[in-house]
Amino acid sequence: MTVKKSLPEDLEPIEKASRDEISALQLERLKWSLKHAYENVPHHKQAFDEKGVHPDDLKTLADLAKFPFMTKSALRDHYPFGLFAVPRQKLARLHASSGTTGKSIVVGYTLKDIDNWANLVARSIRAAGGRAGDMLHNAYGYGMFTGGLGAHYGAERAGCTVVPMSGGQTEKQVQQIIDFQPEIIMVTPSYSLVIAEEFQRRGIAPEEISLKIGIFGAEPWGEGMRAEIERDLGLDAIDIYGLTEVMGPGVACECIESKDGPVIWEDHFYPEIVDPETGEVLPDGSEGELVFTSLTKEAFPVIRYRTRDLTRLLAPTSRSFRRMDKITGRSDDMLIIRGVNVFPTQIEEQILRDKRLAGTYQIVLTRDGHLDNIEVCCEVTRELSFGLSEADRATISKELQHRIKTNVGVSTRVNVMLFDTLPRTQTGKARRVFDHRPKLN
Ligand code: ADP
Repeated sequence: MTVKKSLPEDLEPIEKASRDEISALQLERLKWSLKHAYENVPHHKQAFDEKGVHPDDLKTLADLAKFPFMTKSALRDHYPFGLFAVPRQKLARLHASSGTTGKSIVVGYTLKDIDNWANLVARSIRAAGGRAGDMLHNAYGYGMFTGGLGAHYGAERAGCTVVPMSGGQTEKQVQQIIDFQPEIIMVTPSYSLVIAEEFQRRGIAPEEISLKIGIFGAEPWGEGMRAEIERDLGLDAIDIYGLTEVMGPGVACECIESKDGPVIWEDHFYPEIVDPETGEVLPDGSEGELVFTSLTKEAFPVIRYRTRDLTRLLAPTSRSFRRMDKITGRSDDMLIIRGVNVFPTQIEEQILRDKRLAGTYQIVLTRDGHLDNIEVCCEVTRELSFGLSEADRATISKELQHRIKTNVGVSTRVNVMLFDTLPRTQTGKARRVFDHRPKLN
């Protein structure tokens, strides 16, 4: 149900530039970015030196393959500010995302970085069919998470009237949409369906809802879910992609006229697809791990950052930039639960903090309606198993639930069992995660 299309006059010149023009700009910016990282971040200098490469070795875009990768562990090792390329005093803002254990991943932005980010989210909103003067209901969470403020600044930049609602309080969200009549919503796809259910509960038909465009991201969603959201909310559902380490939302966004995968804003981020095992660069069209190098970032340059997201690079269609396919999975064990990134090791860390619990655990994921549920099954120690009362079990469970909610950010159901209840591995590596959520289509 397309309502608006991007018109050629709405596009920035670079969005319709020739491939040669784009490549020339990328090369020029890539040279700057490598040099900037090398000269200002000791980690990058050391990694380049160890690999025997220097920024001057980059003569063509393909030369990037000679440079070292950057992984999430580098962010953990240099927590909190060790990877910044400008003095802390020059930062305008900090954001954070989940790390694999207690310490989060911290990123920073100069005012110029925030300006670029706002421009790219504004470009994304226009690609989604939004225009100056539209009202945009922002239900992404505000705070350290990049979603809320990232969308907010971009929407203002696009000339929209922003309603900074943040997540949660579904009844209030819906009342506000009814009262204010926004045309656009930005929210996680799974939460949009919870909002849709509240409209249904109130007996409001999709065609009576003011929303015309939904810009959804932060978690994987498939064509089946797109059809469901479009039907239930009566809007065009557009996919926006991003990640904290690279910037936040707005690294790539779909165009309303084609809805054929997010267009990567290649004038700011250089994408590669690599074999997750060998690191070898794969040709466009091959499935592999998405890797990004920032081309303009001042505070937190990323050089060949391994996103762990599995996808393909696709040829340009509605814009001159290449697109990415839907994310089909991850090459690490990160789970996305109701839009929150969760590593099993973060949960393990909270279990191990309680000396009454043994180290064996299982994480069981299910989907109830539209929302993910997470159950943590763990065991008390052998000694405690004798004479464990229901009251003890309830206390341990409540405490663990609280620690996981506070430190990891997700609500869980905790099932405390007697020692040796969970199956033990016979073959070595224990299987910790059981994901029974329906596969995306
Ligand atoms: P955010 O959730 O705001 O995008 P995070 O840094 O918290 O940023 O999480 C980034 C990860 O979220 C990505 O690496 C990817 O796994 C997932 N993600 C973000 N957007 C999408 C999307 N549109 N489709 C699929 N996965 C996405």
